[in-house]
Amino acid sequence: MQERYDASRGNSNERGYDADWQKVRAVKAAQDPLCETCARLGIDKALDVVHHIKSIEERPDLRLDMDNLQSLCTEHHEKIHKAERWRRGAPDDLIVFARIAGRFIIPRARIG
Ligand SMILES: [Zn+2]
Ligand SMILES: [Zn+2]
Repeated sequence: MQERYDASRGNSNERGYDADWQKVRAVKAAQDPLCETCARLGIDKALDVVHHIKSIEERPDLRLDMDNLQSLCTEHHEKIHKAERWRRGAPDDLIVFARIAGRFIIPRARIG
């Protein structure tokens, strides 16, 4: 168990993305083939990413839990992660970037 974990340990984003995850991801993608955030806005857009609402680092026990997964397009996926980083204390370069871009990324009440 520990060996397998060590073998697959990449950076924090890659950790835990094994064969079990591939299976669960495929089920979720088949169930919700559209970006869930776009769908709420009335837009039909195919998913690019199956996102963990609670990150694997935060809740490794929910890694394969369907209720913890969200189908998202790249754009909405990036938005969620940017907001998350902001919430945790954004790195300076992100704050500078947000200022240059002229818009601040305001974390919504319900993220994660
Ligand atoms: Zn979207
Ligand atoms: Zn994600």
